[in-house]
Amino acid sequence: MKLATSLQEIQPSYIREILSAASAPGVISLAGGLPDDTTFPLALMAKSLSDLSNKTQLFQYGNTAGYTPLLNYFRSLYQLPASHSSIVCTGSQQGLDLIARAFINPGDSVVMEAPSYLGAIQVFGLAQANIESVSQDPDGPNLDELETCFATKDIKLFYAVPDFHNPTGVCWSLAVRQKVAQLCQQYKVGFIEDVPYRELRYKGDFLPLVSSFCPDNSLVLRSYSKIATPGIRLGLVTGKADWITALNTVKQAADLHSSVPMQAVLLDLLQHPDFDEHLVKLRALYYSRYQALSQQIALKLPSNCYANSVDGGMFIWLSLPDCDVDALAQSALEHGVAVVPSSVFYQDRATVIPALRLNFTNASVEELSEAVDRLAKVIKLHC
Ligand code: PMP
Repeated sequence: MKLATSLQEIQPSYIREILSAASAPGVISLAGGLPDDTTFPLALMAKSLSDLSNKTQLFQYGNTAGYTPLLNYFRSLYQLPASHSSIVCTGSQQGLDLIARAFINPGDSVVMEAPSYLGAIQVFGLAQANIESVSQDPDGPNLDELETCFATKDIKLFYAVPDFHNPTGVCWSLAVRQKVAQLCQQYKVGFIEDVPYRELRYKGDFLPLVSSFCPDNSLVLRSYSKIATPGIRLGLVTGKADWITALNTVKQAADLHSSVPMQAVLLDLLQHPDFDEHLVKLRALYYSRYQALSQQIALKLPSNCYANSVDGGMFIWLSLPDCDVDALAQSALEHGVAVVPSSVFYQDRATVIPALRLNFTNASVEELSEAVDRLAKVIKLHC
């Protein structure tokens, strides 16, 4: 059977493919965006998991928008105004796919920062969107480029990860958030705010969502993969009620609804008296690993390799001198350390800046130290 045109130019995700190579014995993986599974709050979930066997009705077909008690909880947690609603998704990744299906016609223009989240490049690629890239500054997208893009092209959506970006870890400043919201309103561009790492802040104060400055012009994608577990596959989209209704129609066709038993377990977890303590411990563990990795980099890698400092999230972006990053990542794997080359995060390969994405949440301090030793050898060979 001939593949659909939309699939012909789409590559399978490099990261999902490298994960199996990265799990070979002896390989230290800094490649995936994986939370540490020893942190999964299974003890806090144990009672609701065992109670499930008495709750037959949860195993019946459910509402497409989600399990009503969970939706009610989210309405008050996220202080949604009466004109807004939400839909539970099978991971925030599904939310992104629903948005593309609901709002993008082939050829519509979508703006993303370069580099950008690979899963979003895939979704908008499959939707046959025309992807426009703007470069990223240390405090968010380059505003001059963004405004020129909005002013000169017919842009439908701007997709972004303002809190601890994947892959760079960048967190947008307050001023950038306000300006982007203003530009999106001025040029009537929908803003898609993807915030799976928002709760993983290790330093500094939480900043308002960009969407809080343009609530009727935006959709927020949340994920419970990093603060609960990825395997429950639950995310949420919030926004104007008529936009959420459109997503609901698409989700009916996609999978009817997300797992109701898992939504009930998530609700119990989020309301558990010890859940905040779980988040405190999670942040402390990840922050100590971040500090260990950045210290090792400063100590062991040549000075022309530069790691940005981040206040949260799961990634360090290691900028490198001019080199073939794909060959470097391949050679790193052969030397027992899995990393992701910057090339996979760019829509336009001609604009790739040499760098590696390093994940610090799923390796111990000892493994991070050993990984940097291995990386130092490989960088010597390639750069
Ligand atoms: N958006 C971004 C920026 C991500 O990094 C990820 C996962 N790594 C997702 C969305 C998808 O997350 P989920 O597990 O909720 O589908």
